[in-house]
Amino acid sequence: MLKELRQRVLVAAKKLREYDLIVMAGGTVAARDSETGLVVITPSGMEYDDLTWEDMTVIDAALNKVDGARKQSVCSDMFMEIFKARSDIGAVCHSHSRYATAFACCNMQIPVITTTQGNLVGGPVPCTHWVHPDPHEPAYLRDIVETIGFGFACNIRNHGPVVCGRTVEEAIENIITVEVTAQTTYIARQLGNPDYLSEEETLRAYQFCKSSVGQG
Ligand SMILES: [Zn+2]
Repeated sequence: MLKELRQRVLVAAKKLREYDLIVMAGGTVAARDSETGLVVITPSGMEYDDLTWEDMTVIDAALNKVDGARKQSVCSDMFMEIFKARSDIGAVCHSHSRYATAFACCNMQIPVITTTQGNLVGGPVPCTHWVHPDPHEPAYLRDIVETIGFGFACNIRNHGPVVCGRTVEEAIENIITVEVTAQTTYIARQLGNPDYLSEEETLRAYQFCKSSVGQG
């Protein structure tokens, strides 16, 4: 079931490898089917190079597996909490990409330093508040959902970014943008004192992109 969405999630997941955002099996991609509310999510602990669309797992809101031979990602509960909190979100992805994770390890938000970050993500990427040895702890999951708020991304403390999109293609574009922004910020700070976009400039960049860029 949901073959087309499972194929799209696979293509998106492989882009994380293509852009060097994940090492081995260290990432998760999921998309929600708008008709059924079911979620397609990457499997647990499998290297992305080996995945086929049939390895994508289909789960329901109670985290029951509905289709697929593989065990679902360990992030399933986190992703489902985000989907439940945000009806406008169609996809979520997560990686341990180096530069974004470095910001999370320093408890620093990734600022809006480029108009591209404003265009696509629409704001800075804040860090969550605490680390927990059990990633299924309800307070830990609530912290992630609340830190994302009405935005599209957060950076889990000492762990890595969680980024959303209206579609799975948009979510992947956003998480790649977050990593590039983190890297650009790091480089710019070596060079001097970078300028950052104001809230108003960021909003204008975001609105411009959503109304003017792309094929419609
Ligand atoms: Zn992780």
